[in-house]
Amino acid sequence: MLEDNYKQRGLRNKLVKKLRQKGITDEAVLAAIGKVPRHVFFDDALLAHAYEDKAFPIGEGQTISQPYTVAFQSEKLEVKPGQKVLEIGTGSGYQAAILLELGAKVYTIEFNRKLYEKTKAFLPSFGYNPYFFYGDGSKGIPAKAPFDKIIVTAGAPVIPSALTDQLTEKGILIIPVGDRESQKMLKIHKNAGKLLKEEFNQFAFVPLLGEGGWTSKD
Ligand code: SAM
Repeated sequence: MLEDNYKQRGLRNKLVKKLRQKGITDEAVLAAIGKVPRHVFFDDALLAHAYEDKAFPIGEGQTISQPYTVAFQSEKLEVKPGQKVLEIGTGSGYQAAILLELGAKVYTIEFNRKLYEKTKAFLPSFGYNPYFFYGDGSKGIPAKAPFDKIIVTAGAPVIPSALTDQLTEKGILIIPVGDRESQKMLKIHKNAGKLLKEEFNQFAFVPLLGEGGWTSKD
């Protein structure tokens, strides 16, 4: 369903209005949400829900994040055109598309092989071309570091040190940290080697797996 008609554009405009009401103010982020066709990420059975402000299943027990969450994380990331951004948890590719609309050079890594294959084949078909990686993103991508910004789209038990290590000197990491059910959104600024932490509201993400995330023993 790659077609984007006036009805879908209208629903997207309504979604943007709702995000403004919920406190999103970054015009570039709002414009990106207004531009990326979210319905193309949905199976036919769920199509009618594509522009609701809700998370939805994308297969493999994973979800496409709620638009408010995507907008919130994107706003806090303060992306400037041309910056190198690492996304951990490619999932459907929707967040990666938003980051590309913000002008970032996007590296995205997914730990679920099927989702990685699916999104890598699908996302470029409508013009979004991040660099796709398969593997444990809790370790970052050392070979491609440093990154100006890192966004984690799964809930972590702690802040993986590999990620703060892979930030540039003025870099920002945005990551939900907490238990398996709910996490506090954290924003870590690196400044002259020091890490400054800001805390925001609670969110509910699927767990970050791997070495810096939840292991099956947890
Ligand atoms: N950003 C996605 C989107 O726009 O659709 C939503 C991501 S979904 C909430 C979280 C994703 O993180 C899942 O696809 C999951 O497989 C992935 N994930 C979990 N642990 C990971 C890890 N250690 N490295 C990379 N991806 C991971």
